[in-house]
Amino acid sequence: MANPTKVPFLDLVTSHKELEDELLAVVKKAFSNAGFIGGPMVEEFEREFARFCDAKLCVGVNSGTDALRFALMAAGVEPGDIVITAPHTFIATTEAISQAGGHIAFVDINEQTYTLDPEKLRAYLEKDCDFDAKTGKLIERASKRKVAAIVPVHLYGQMADMDPIMELATKYKLFVIEDACQAHGAEYFSKKHNAWKKAGSIGKAAAFSFYPGKNLGACGEGGGITTNDEAMAQRMKMIRDHGQAKKYYHDIEGYNGRLDSIQAGWLSVKLRHLARWNEARRALAHRYHELFAEVKDSVVAPIEESWTKGVYHLYVVRVRDREVLQTYLAEAGIGSGIHYPIPLHLQKAYEHLGYIQGAFPVTERVAGEIVSLPMFPQLSPSQQELVASKVLEFLHASVAAAR
Ligand SMILES: *Cc1c(COP(=O)(O)O)cnc(C)c1O
Repeated sequence: MANPTKVPFLDLVTSHKELEDELLAVVKKAFSNAGFIGGPMVEEFEREFARFCDAKLCVGVNSGTDALRFALMAAGVEPGDIVITAPHTFIATTEAISQAGGHIAFVDINEQTYTLDPEKLRAYLEKDCDFDAKTGKLIERASKRKVAAIVPVHLYGQMADMDPIMELATKYKLFVIEDACQAHGAEYFSKKHNAWKKAGSIGKAAAFSFYPGKNLGACGEGGGITTNDEAMAQRMKMIRDHGQAKKYYHDIEGYNGRLDSIQAGWLSVKLRHLARWNEARRALAHRYHELFAEVKDSVVAPIEESWTKGVYHLYVVRVRDREVLQTYLAEAGIGSGIHYPIPLHLQKAYEHLGYIQGAFPVTERVAGEIVSLPMFPQLSPSQQELVASKVLEFLHASVAAAR
Protein backbone atom coordinates (compact mmCIF):
# COMPACT_ATOMS: atom_id res chain seq x y z
CA MET A 1 0.00 0.00 0.00
CA ALA A 2 1.29 3.43 -0.93
CA ASN A 3 1.98 5.72 1.98
CA PRO A 4 0.44 9.18 1.84
CA THR A 5 3.11 11.86 1.62
CA LYS A 6 3.34 13.78 4.86
CA VAL A 7 6.61 15.57 4.18
CA PRO A 8 7.78 15.72 0.58
CA PHE A 9 11.50 15.91 -0.05
CA LEU A 10 10.84 19.13 -1.96
CA ASP A 11 7.59 21.09 -2.33
CA LEU A 12 7.55 23.32 -5.39
CA VAL A 13 3.76 23.64 -5.49
CA THR A 14 3.32 25.79 -2.38
CA SER A 15 6.00 28.33 -3.29
CA HIS A 16 4.48 28.85 -6.75
CA LYS A 17 0.93 29.16 -5.39
CA GLU A 18 2.18 31.99 -3.17
CA LEU A 19 3.48 33.90 -6.20
CA GLU A 20 0.88 32.90 -8.79
CA ASP A 21 -0.44 36.38 -9.59
CA GLU A 22 3.01 37.93 -9.97
CA LEU A 23 4.16 35.05 -12.16
CA LEU A 24 1.09 35.25 -14.41
CA ALA A 25 1.66 38.99 -14.87
CA VAL A 26 5.06 38.17 -16.40
CA VAL A 27 3.44 35.94 -19.00
CA LYS A 28 0.97 38.69 -19.97
CA LYS A 29 3.82 41.15 -20.28
CA ALA A 30 5.73 38.76 -22.55
CA PHE A 31 2.65 38.21 -24.75
CA SER A 32 2.22 41.97 -25.13
CA ASN A 33 5.40 42.24 -27.22
CA ALA A 34 6.09 38.56 -28.08
CA GLY A 35 9.85 38.96 -27.60
CA PHE A 36 10.41 35.53 -26.15
CA ILE A 37 14.20 35.20 -26.40
CA GLY A 38 16.59 37.75 -24.94
CA GLY A 39 15.41 41.37 -24.76
CA PRO A 40 14.71 43.73 -21.86
CA MET A 41 13.39 41.15 -19.37
CA VAL A 42 16.59 39.11 -19.74
CA GLU A 43 18.79 42.20 -19.45
CA GLU A 44 16.91 43.38 -16.38
CA PHE A 45 17.30 40.02 -14.66
CA GLU A 46 20.99 39.90 -15.57
CA ARG A 47 21.54 43.29 -13.91
CA GLU A 48 19.58 42.30 -10.81
CA PHE A 49 21.28 38.94 -10.41
CA ALA A 50 24.76 40.42 -10.87
CA ARG A 51 23.93 42.94 -8.14
CA PHE A 52 22.64 40.17 -5.86
CA CYS A 53 25.96 38.31 -6.28
CA ASP A 54 28.14 41.43 -5.85
CA ALA A 55 29.44 40.81 -9.37
CA LYS A 56 29.69 43.35 -12.17
CA LEU A 57 28.01 41.33 -14.88
CA CYS A 58 25.71 38.39 -15.47
CA VAL A 59 25.07 36.49 -18.69
CA GLY A 60 21.81 34.56 -18.77
CA VAL A 61 21.97 31.13 -20.39
CA ASN A 62 19.70 28.12 -20.67
CA SER A 63 21.09 25.90 -17.91
CA GLY A 64 23.72 25.60 -15.21
CA THR A 65 25.53 23.04 -17.33
CA ASP A 66 25.84 25.48 -20.22
CA ALA A 67 26.83 28.22 -17.76
CA LEU A 68 29.82 26.11 -16.68
CA ARG A 69 30.67 25.03 -20.21
CA PHE A 70 30.51 28.56 -21.67
CA ALA A 71 32.54 30.00 -18.78
CA LEU A 72 35.29 27.41 -19.28
CA MET A 73 35.32 27.99 -23.04
CA ALA A 74 35.36 31.78 -22.72
CA ALA A 75 38.15 31.63 -20.14
CA GLY A 76 40.24 29.77 -22.69
CA VAL A 77 40.39 26.05 -21.89
CA GLU A 78 42.28 24.45 -24.78
CA PRO A 79 41.72 20.90 -26.03
CA GLY A 80 43.24 18.42 -23.59
CA ASP A 81 43.92 20.94 -20.81
CA ILE A 82 43.44 19.65 -17.29
CA VAL A 83 40.58 21.13 -15.29
CA ILE A 84 40.55 20.16 -11.62
CA THR A 85 37.39 19.53 -9.64
CA ALA A 86 36.05 17.32 -6.84
CA PRO A 87 34.62 13.84 -7.52
CA HIS A 88 31.80 14.55 -5.05
CA THR A 89 29.43 16.63 -7.21
CA PHE A 90 26.69 16.33 -9.80
CA ILE A 91 27.92 15.06 -13.16
CA ALA A 92 27.09 18.38 -14.88
CA THR A 93 30.31 19.81 -13.40
CA THR A 94 32.46 17.30 -15.26
CA GLU A 95 30.26 17.10 -18.37
CA ALA A 96 30.91 20.81 -18.81
CA ILE A 97 34.65 20.29 -18.43
CA SER A 98 34.81 17.55 -21.08
CA GLN A 99 32.42 19.32 -23.42
CA ALA A 100 34.55 22.48 -23.23
CA GLY A 101 37.45 20.32 -24.42
CA GLY A 102 39.07 19.91 -21.02
CA HIS A 103 40.45 16.79 -19.35
CA ILE A 104 39.02 16.04 -15.89
CA ALA A 105 41.38 15.65 -12.92
CA PHE A 106 39.88 14.98 -9.51
CA VAL A 107 41.08 16.14 -6.11
CA ASP A 108 39.36 14.79 -2.99
CA ILE A 109 37.05 16.77 -0.70
CA ASN A 110 37.45 17.87 2.90
CA GLU A 111 35.48 15.66 5.29
CA GLN A 112 33.97 18.62 7.20
CA THR A 113 32.91 20.86 4.34
CA TYR A 114 32.33 18.26 1.58
CA THR A 115 34.03 20.69 -0.82
CA LEU A 116 37.38 20.63 -2.62
CA ASP A 117 40.16 20.25 -0.03
CA PRO A 118 42.75 23.03 -0.51
CA GLU A 119 45.49 20.94 1.12
CA LYS A 120 44.91 18.06 -1.28
CA LEU A 121 44.80 20.54 -4.14
CA ARG A 122 48.16 21.90 -3.02
CA ALA A 123 49.58 18.39 -2.79
CA TYR A 124 48.37 17.58 -6.33
CA LEU A 125 49.78 20.80 -7.79
CA GLU A 126 53.10 20.46 -5.98
CA LYS A 127 53.72 16.72 -6.12
CA ASP A 128 52.04 15.59 -9.35
CA CYS A 129 52.81 18.61 -11.51
CA ASP A 130 55.90 20.55 -12.60
CA PHE A 131 56.03 24.28 -13.16
CA ASP A 132 57.81 25.08 -16.39
CA ALA A 133 59.39 28.46 -15.68
CA LYS A 134 60.19 29.00 -19.39
CA THR A 135 56.60 28.75 -20.61
CA GLY A 136 55.00 29.71 -17.32
CA LYS A 137 52.85 26.60 -17.57
CA LEU A 138 52.01 23.93 -15.04
CA ILE A 139 52.29 20.42 -16.48
CA GLU A 140 50.93 17.22 -14.94
CA ARG A 141 53.96 14.94 -14.89
CA ALA A 142 52.31 11.60 -15.73
CA SER A 143 50.15 12.80 -18.64
CA LYS A 144 52.24 15.78 -19.84
CA ARG A 145 49.01 17.75 -20.00
CA LYS A 146 48.84 21.43 -19.18
CA VAL A 147 46.83 22.31 -16.07
CA ALA A 148 44.50 25.21 -16.90
CA ALA A 149 41.75 25.64 -14.36
CA ILE A 150 40.09 24.77 -11.07
CA VAL A 151 36.34 24.36 -10.63
CA PRO A 152 35.50 24.44 -6.91
CA VAL A 153 31.92 23.33 -6.28
CA HIS A 154 29.97 25.17 -3.56
CA LEU A 155 28.12 21.98 -2.70
CA TYR A 156 24.83 21.83 -0.76
CA GLY A 157 24.89 25.65 -0.51
CA GLN A 158 28.22 26.00 1.34
CA MET A 159 31.12 27.70 -0.34
CA ALA A 160 34.46 26.00 -0.84
CA ASP A 161 37.41 27.41 1.10
CA MET A 162 38.23 30.00 -1.55
CA ASP A 163 41.21 31.93 -0.08
CA PRO A 164 43.73 29.09 -0.35
CA ILE A 165 42.21 27.93 -3.65
CA MET A 166 42.61 31.41 -5.16
CA GLU A 167 46.12 31.70 -3.76
CA LEU A 168 47.18 28.44 -5.41
CA ALA A 169 45.46 29.47 -8.64
CA THR A 170 47.37 32.76 -8.70
CA LYS A 171 50.65 31.06 -7.88
CA TYR A 172 50.31 28.55 -10.74
CA LYS A 173 48.48 30.87 -13.19
CA LEU A 174 45.30 28.81 -13.25
CA PHE A 175 41.87 30.32 -13.60
CA VAL A 176 38.99 29.52 -11.29
CA ILE A 177 35.39 29.00 -12.36
CA GLU A 178 33.06 28.61 -9.37
CA ASP A 179 30.32 26.00 -9.67
CA ALA A 180 27.76 27.98 -7.70
CA CYS A 181 24.78 26.00 -9.03
CA GLN A 182 23.73 25.13 -5.46
CA ALA A 183 24.85 28.32 -3.76
CA HIS A 184 22.82 31.40 -4.80
CA GLY A 185 23.48 33.93 -2.03
CA ALA A 186 26.01 31.85 -0.07
CA GLU A 187 28.84 33.83 1.55
CA TYR A 188 32.48 33.25 2.38
CA PHE A 189 34.65 35.25 4.76
CA SER A 190 37.87 36.05 2.95
CA LYS A 191 40.67 36.63 5.44
CA LYS A 192 42.75 38.00 2.61
CA HIS A 193 40.22 40.76 1.87
CA ASN A 194 38.89 40.90 5.43
CA ALA A 195 35.36 40.85 4.01
CA TRP A 196 32.41 38.59 3.35
CA LYS A 197 32.25 37.60 -0.33
CA LYS A 198 29.23 36.29 -2.19
CA ALA A 199 29.27 33.10 -4.26
CA GLY A 200 29.85 34.22 -7.83
CA SER A 201 32.06 37.20 -6.95
CA ILE A 202 35.43 35.50 -6.43
CA GLY A 203 36.49 33.41 -9.45
CA LYS A 204 37.08 34.54 -13.02
CA ALA A 205 33.45 33.57 -13.52
CA ALA A 206 30.80 31.56 -11.70
CA ALA A 207 28.05 29.30 -12.98
CA PHE A 208 24.54 29.26 -11.52
CA SER A 209 21.68 26.90 -12.30
CA PHE A 210 18.07 28.01 -12.22
CA TYR A 211 16.72 24.47 -12.47
CA PRO A 212 13.35 24.55 -10.65
CA GLY A 213 14.56 22.84 -7.48
CA LYS A 214 17.56 25.14 -6.92
CA ASN A 215 17.44 27.95 -4.32
CA LEU A 216 16.55 30.31 -7.17
CA GLY A 217 14.68 28.27 -9.76
CA ALA A 218 12.97 29.11 -13.03
CA CYS A 219 9.71 27.43 -14.09
CA GLY A 220 11.74 25.43 -16.60
CA GLU A 221 15.43 25.42 -17.52
CA GLY A 222 17.73 28.36 -16.90
CA GLY A 223 21.25 29.33 -15.91
CA GLY A 224 23.49 32.34 -15.42
CA ILE A 225 27.16 33.22 -15.38
CA THR A 226 28.52 36.03 -13.22
CA THR A 227 31.86 37.71 -13.84
CA ASN A 228 33.67 41.00 -13.25
CA ASP A 229 35.46 40.67 -16.59
CA GLU A 230 33.87 42.61 -19.45
CA ALA A 231 35.71 40.67 -22.18
CA MET A 232 34.69 37.32 -20.63
CA ALA A 233 31.06 38.48 -20.59
CA GLN A 234 31.24 39.48 -24.26
CA ARG A 235 32.67 36.09 -25.24
CA MET A 236 30.05 34.24 -23.24
CA LYS A 237 27.29 36.28 -24.90
CA MET A 238 28.65 35.27 -28.30
CA ILE A 239 28.99 31.62 -27.33
CA ARG A 240 25.39 31.44 -26.08
CA ASP A 241 24.13 32.94 -29.36
CA HIS A 242 25.73 31.00 -32.25
CA GLY A 243 29.00 32.88 -32.03
CA GLN A 244 27.50 36.12 -33.25
CA ALA A 245 27.85 39.59 -31.81
CA LYS A 246 25.87 40.97 -34.75
CA LYS A 247 23.05 38.99 -36.35
CA TYR A 248 24.36 36.54 -39.02
CA TYR A 249 28.00 37.64 -38.57
CA HIS A 250 29.52 34.58 -36.88
CA ASP A 251 33.03 35.10 -35.53
CA ILE A 252 33.12 31.61 -34.06
CA GLU A 253 30.85 28.58 -33.85
CA GLY A 254 28.68 28.91 -30.79
CA TYR A 255 25.65 27.25 -29.27
CA ASN A 256 21.96 27.83 -28.83
CA GLY A 257 22.24 28.54 -25.13
CA ARG A 258 20.11 31.61 -24.48
CA LEU A 259 17.77 32.39 -21.59
CA ASP A 260 14.06 32.79 -22.45
CA SER A 261 12.52 36.13 -21.52
CA ILE A 262 9.56 34.58 -19.67
CA GLN A 263 11.99 32.56 -17.54
CA ALA A 264 14.03 35.72 -16.89
CA GLY A 265 10.86 37.58 -15.88
CA TRP A 266 9.91 34.78 -13.50
CA LEU A 267 13.43 34.74 -12.08
CA SER A 268 13.22 38.50 -11.41
CA VAL A 269 9.99 37.96 -9.47
CA LYS A 270 11.52 35.15 -7.44
CA LEU A 271 14.83 36.92 -6.88
CA ARG A 272 12.98 39.47 -4.74
CA HIS A 273 12.16 36.64 -2.33
CA LEU A 274 15.49 34.81 -2.41
CA ALA A 275 17.13 36.46 0.60
CA ARG A 276 14.07 35.66 2.72
CA TRP A 277 13.92 32.08 1.43
CA ASN A 278 17.63 31.58 2.15
CA GLU A 279 17.08 32.89 5.70
CA ALA A 280 14.23 30.40 6.11
CA ARG A 281 16.53 27.58 4.95
CA ARG A 282 19.21 28.69 7.42
CA ALA A 283 16.69 28.79 10.28
CA LEU A 284 15.46 25.30 9.35
CA ALA A 285 19.03 24.03 9.21
CA HIS A 286 19.76 25.39 12.67
CA ARG A 287 16.58 23.81 13.99
CA TYR A 288 17.63 20.45 12.50
CA HIS A 289 21.04 20.86 14.18
CA GLU A 290 19.26 21.34 17.54
CA LEU A 291 16.92 18.43 17.00
CA PHE A 292 19.85 16.11 16.23
CA ALA A 293 22.17 17.45 18.95
CA GLU A 294 21.33 14.58 21.32
CA VAL A 295 22.33 11.96 18.74
CA LYS A 296 25.34 13.71 17.28
CA ASP A 297 27.42 10.53 17.37
CA SER A 298 24.99 8.72 15.09
CA VAL A 299 23.76 11.63 12.96
CA VAL A 300 26.58 13.74 11.58
CA ALA A 301 24.98 17.12 10.84
CA PRO A 302 26.47 19.61 8.35
CA ILE A 303 29.26 21.69 9.81
CA GLU A 304 29.18 25.40 9.14
CA GLU A 305 32.69 26.75 9.62
CA SER A 306 33.02 30.30 10.99
CA TRP A 307 34.07 31.49 7.52
CA THR A 308 30.96 30.39 5.69
CA LYS A 309 27.29 31.32 5.59
CA GLY A 310 25.53 28.46 3.87
CA VAL A 311 22.22 28.71 2.04
CA TYR A 312 21.34 25.04 2.61
CA HIS A 313 20.30 24.03 -0.86
CA LEU A 314 20.31 20.58 0.75
CA TYR A 315 20.41 19.43 4.37
CA VAL A 316 22.70 16.43 4.28
CA VAL A 317 23.44 14.22 7.28
CA ARG A 318 25.58 11.13 7.58
CA VAL A 319 24.27 7.97 9.22
CA ARG A 320 25.02 4.28 9.27
CA ASP A 321 22.47 2.14 7.39
CA ARG A 322 21.16 5.03 5.37
CA GLU A 323 19.17 2.82 2.97
CA VAL A 324 17.30 1.31 5.92
CA LEU A 325 16.67 4.80 7.28
CA GLN A 326 15.35 5.95 3.91
CA THR A 327 12.91 3.03 3.79
CA TYR A 328 11.82 3.78 7.36
CA LEU A 329 11.18 7.43 6.45
CA ALA A 330 9.38 6.49 3.24
CA GLU A 331 7.04 4.26 5.25
CA ALA A 332 6.23 7.27 7.41
CA GLY A 333 5.48 9.36 4.29
CA ILE A 334 8.74 11.31 4.41
CA GLY A 335 10.85 11.95 1.32
CA SER A 336 14.66 11.85 1.28
CA GLY A 337 17.45 11.73 -1.29
CA ILE A 338 21.13 10.90 -1.81
CA HIS A 339 23.37 13.57 -3.32
CA TYR A 340 25.25 11.69 -4.69
CA PRO A 341 25.43 7.90 -4.29
CA ILE A 342 28.26 7.09 -6.74
CA PRO A 343 31.38 9.29 -6.77
CA LEU A 344 32.11 10.56 -10.26
CA HIS A 345 35.47 8.79 -10.53
CA LEU A 346 33.65 5.45 -10.11
CA GLN A 347 30.90 6.17 -12.64
CA LYS A 348 30.81 4.07 -15.79
CA ALA A 349 30.98 7.26 -17.86
CA TYR A 350 34.45 7.92 -16.44
CA GLU A 351 35.98 4.44 -16.62
CA HIS A 352 38.32 5.78 -19.30
CA LEU A 353 39.89 8.19 -16.80
CA GLY A 354 41.39 5.15 -15.09
CA TYR A 355 40.66 5.99 -11.46
CA ILE A 356 40.35 3.03 -9.10
CA GLN A 357 38.26 2.37 -6.00
CA GLY A 358 40.09 3.93 -3.07
CA ALA A 359 41.49 6.82 -5.14
CA PHE A 360 39.46 9.40 -3.16
CA PRO A 361 38.75 7.87 0.25
CA VAL A 362 36.90 10.84 1.77
CA THR A 363 34.50 11.13 -1.15
CA GLU A 364 33.94 7.38 -1.15
CA ARG A 365 33.25 7.23 2.61
CA VAL A 366 30.92 10.22 2.50
CA ALA A 367 29.03 8.94 -0.56
CA GLY A 368 28.21 5.74 1.34
CA GLU A 369 26.70 7.51 4.36
CA ILE A 370 24.91 10.66 3.21
CA VAL A 371 21.15 11.24 3.24
CA SER A 372 19.45 14.49 2.28
CA LEU A 373 16.44 15.32 4.47
CA PRO A 374 13.50 17.53 3.42
CA MET A 375 14.70 21.14 3.06
CA PHE A 376 12.77 23.95 1.38
CA PRO A 377 11.70 27.38 2.66
CA GLN A 378 8.05 26.41 3.13
CA LEU A 379 8.83 23.33 5.26
CA SER A 380 6.61 23.81 8.32
CA PRO A 381 7.78 23.42 11.93
CA SER A 382 5.46 20.44 12.44
CA GLN A 383 6.72 18.75 9.26
CA GLN A 384 10.29 19.28 10.41
CA GLU A 385 9.51 17.91 13.90
CA LEU A 386 8.02 14.84 12.26
CA VAL A 387 11.14 14.24 10.16
CA ALA A 388 13.43 14.59 13.18
CA SER A 389 11.25 12.42 15.42
CA LYS A 390 11.19 9.64 12.80
CA VAL A 391 14.98 9.78 12.45
CA LEU A 392 15.37 9.57 16.24
CA GLU A 393 12.81 6.75 16.44
CA PHE A 394 14.77 4.84 13.81
CA LEU A 395 18.04 5.28 15.71
CA HIS A 396 16.50 4.08 18.98
CA ALA A 397 14.95 1.09 17.26
CA SER A 398 18.27 0.10 15.66
CA VAL A 399 20.10 0.47 18.98
CA ALA A 400 17.48 -1.76 20.60
CA ALA A 401 17.76 -4.30 17.75
CA ALA A 402 21.55 -4.38 18.13
CA ARG A 403 21.17 -5.34 21.79
C1 LIG B 1 22.25 21.61 -10.84
C2 LIG B 1 23.71 21.58 -10.93
C3 LIG B 1 24.40 21.79 -12.13
C4 LIG B 1 23.72 21.87 -13.47
O1 LIG B 1 22.69 22.75 -13.59
P1 LIG B 1 21.54 22.51 -14.69
O2 LIG B 1 20.80 23.80 -14.68
O3 LIG B 1 20.72 21.36 -14.23
O4 LIG B 1 22.20 22.25 -15.99
C5 LIG B 1 25.77 21.84 -12.09
N1 LIG B 1 26.46 21.67 -10.95
C6 LIG B 1 25.85 21.44 -9.79
C7 LIG B 1 26.66 21.27 -8.54
C8 LIG B 1 24.45 21.37 -9.73
O5 LIG B 1 23.84 21.10 -8.57
